[in-house]
Amino acid sequence: MTVKYDVVVVGVGPSGAAAARGLVNKGFKVLVIEKKKLPRYKICSGIIFKKSQEITNNYFGEIPHSVYASPNFLKAARFWDHNGNYIDWPFSKDGDGAPNIWRSEYDYWLIENSLADVWDCCTLIGFTASAHYVSLECYHNARNEKKEITCKYLISAEGSLSLIRARLDPEFEKSLKWFVAYQNYYEGHSDIDPYFYHGFLDSQYGDVYAWFNIKDGLQIFGTAVKKGVKLSSYLNNYTKMLESKFGLRLTKLVRKVGCLGNDMCTTGRFYLGKRNVLLVGESAGFLNAFGEGISCALSTGLSAAEAISKSVSSGDDTIALYTELTKQERRQTAVSWKLGARIAGRNLMPL
Ligand SMILES: Cc1cc2nc3c(=O)[nH]c(=O)nc-3n(C[C@H](O)[C@H](O)[C@H](O)COP(=O)(O)OP(=O)(O)OC[C@H]3O[C@@H](n4cnc5c(N)ncnc54)[C@H](O)[C@@H]3O)c2cc1C
Repeated sequence: MTVKYDVVVVGVGPSGAAAARGLVNKGFKVLVIEKKKLPRYKICSGIIFKKSQEITNNYFGEIPHSVYASPNFLKAARFWDHNGNYIDWPFSKDGDGAPNIWRSEYDYWLIENSLADVWDCCTLIGFTASAHYVSLECYHNARNEKKEITCKYLISAEGSLSLIRARLDPEFEKSLKWFVAYQNYYEGHSDIDPYFYHGFLDSQYGDVYAWFNIKDGLQIFGTAVKKGVKLSSYLNNYTKMLESKFGLRLTKLVRKVGCLGNDMCTTGRFYLGKRNVLLVGESAGFLNAFGEGISCALSTGLSAAEAISKSVSSGDDTIALYTELTKQERRQTAVSWKLGARIAGRNLMPL
């Protein structure tokens, strides 16, 4: 049996949750599908910047205590150069700083508070879009069955690897350049200040940069390099430096995980969608310097909801409305990468 919704959102990250929440607020019948079982793990440092905090508070309410990791708030990002000098980039001028959260819990809380219908273990495997409807083919991983859904609008909130983007424009997809990010979670100890998020900008630790932070006593560190480059030598250099300069002692590996990202954000090649298919968050190319992406995921999710709502009431073109509504966000992404390059003294995405 085919299920019908006004809008289907693919992905339960912050962009999907914000799109869903915005649409539910405007009276649309919304389904969010997610391929993983909820609450799902998401590779992230879990720092909620001021803009993300504001959008979260306005649309979802105060972040519940259960979502926080210890230390609950971080004061600043501390960027280290190759000489061991650092500069601090405070997360707030006043107040507590930036919430230090677990993404699995934060994203789960967001999606529950979107008030949309949510199906987890449900993977989008194909779709066809005509002028007025989109037909989706999905696969329910837990029940081993195919699901057919039709909707008026489809939103890709799939993150950087987007089946929808690849199907809409295979040529664009082929032109993308990719990086690999990798992160370790260890039980252990270090002398590094846990109230800061640490970024190491020396390119011997990663083509992009290397990072370190602490959550609930876990020593979390990772790096990112151009896809195809051997990451292990960068990670070894980095781990040795942390051991010698910051007393890092690793006792037990708890998790290691990687992901892919692309150069849409640094080249300004955002992909906002076609007709009744919209892309939000990282799927559309929104990611700020040093990998901050929650704020633009939330903001573009809300913009997509507004564009759909305005288009339905005015008859105006949805993508044109969405393009206009995301103008400021696209500008901010470009500014953030310029600022990042100035802090690092080099291109932060040499892909
Ligand atoms: C190492 C690292 C650290 C980071 N730290 C921070 C940080 O501290 N602060 C910050 O603001 N940002 C951070 N980011 C960036 C941030 O995590 C992302 O920008 C943000 O999650 C993007 O949100 P999104 O909603 O676009 O996509 P995502 O959060 O990636 O969500 C996409 C969802 O779509 C699902 N999905 C994909 N394809 C399908 C399909 N075909 N069918 C069904 N479901 C599908 C995925 O399973 C996933 O759950 C970090 C990123 C990395 C890699």
